[in-house]
Amino acid sequence: MSQFCLRGSDRTVRAARWAAAALLALVAGTACSGGDSSGPTVEPPVITVSGISDGAVVEEPVTISVTIDGGTFQATLNGNPFFSGGTVAEPGSYLLRVEATNAGGTSVREIGFEIRFTGESLLIIRMMNLGDNAAGGGGDAILVTDSSAAGMRHALIDAGPAGVDASDPGFVHRRLVELGVDTLEIVLLTHAHSDHYQGMPAVINGLRVEEFVYNGQIRFLSGYQAVVSAANARAGVVTVPSGTETRSLGLAGDPTTLTLVPGLPDNLGASTNDGSDLNDGSLGMALSKGAFRMFFTGDGEVDANLRWRTEFASLTGDLSVLKVGHHGANDAVFDGGFAGSGTQWLEHTGADVHLVSSNGTTHPRIAALNALLGRPGATYCTSVHGEIALRATAAGQWTVSVERNAEVDCVPGGDATS
Ligand SMILES: [Zn+2]
Repeated sequence: MSQFCLRGSDRTVRAARWAAAALLALVAGTACSGGDSSGPTVEPPVITVSGISDGAVVEEPVTISVTIDGGTFQATLNGNPFFSGGTVAEPGSYLLRVEATNAGGTSVREIGFEIRFTGESLLIIRMMNLGDNAAGGGGDAILVTDSSAAGMRHALIDAGPAGVDASDPGFVHRRLVELGVDTLEIVLLTHAHSDHYQGMPAVINGLRVEEFVYNGQIRFLSGYQAVVSAANARAGVVTVPSGTETRSLGLAGDPTTLTLVPGLPDNLGASTNDGSDLNDGSLGMALSKGAFRMFFTGDGEVDANLRWRTEFASLTGDLSVLKVGHHGANDAVFDGGFAGSGTQWLEHTGADVHLVSSNGTTHPRIAALNALLGRPGATYCTSVHGEIALRATAAGQWTVSVERNAEVDCVPGGDATS
């Protein structure tokens, strides 16, 4: 708003810190412009602010630089410390105040501005198609992206290998690079099965990972231990949630919220049997943006579904989208497991859309798919529809788009017999 100078003789100089500067100016025989001319003139510092101008109203985040031609300065933004080069990303009204001091006196500059976003932020969920991967039921790899004026911020849930016999562990990393992802704020491994972690080393070693979250499972498999080692070596933080924890992508006033639900405690020790016990130890994750709500299940089956339904009902009920557990296995859909009975889990989740990551050979299972197709809303499978993308706005509108076969229903895996 203004730039002005305080001189040693100025009666307005009362604050002790300013008095010290004024005293220095007098001792040095200096003065502000227009002041005492008895000695060599030393001007007060000139403050230069770039990136924003006084009175500006901008529609994007701003990065602000402050420089002075001598001395030192302190800056505040709405009263809080601000450092040159900082970015202001949230909408609101701001006052930047810079106070600079050197032997010539003190300068103060104030700049008022406003950030007012007019565009709409977007949540994008991509369930990758891992193809004929025979491991598990097809593997999982899901990218969650918040796109707003603050930029694209990403979380990855699982990184299974692709291809026949899991022949392509680098697929997820390559797909992320294709999508322009260089930083993942969160990489979440739901559980310790290779169809969920075999692509992790390429991701962790090839991209910047700020936080790696897993369920803490102990397994004496070199491939699994390599993933945990890579995460400990390269991720900014490694987290094993012991209770629900939340993370946020996007703007503070328009966040995409991730709520982590720890795995079943009894299923996480070194004595956990392979198969269903590991599946039921899957980390769960609830995702919300505005009215949009989704729950991710990993390969959770009967025990996990029961716990999510009864102990975490508010996170798992009345969903927009359910990521179906275990590639569309009967155990992951029916309350009674493989026998194929009971649909309280599906009724509780009440999803408008079910997403199934499946290989099309062993999964999805026949009974599970019939139950899903019998529900209101649509069911999409990677084995039929390819990569599935979902886009949601904070206002609650959302759409599903698929890579292929949009007009046809999911079909059971070709080798599924029940
Ligand atoms: Zn799996």
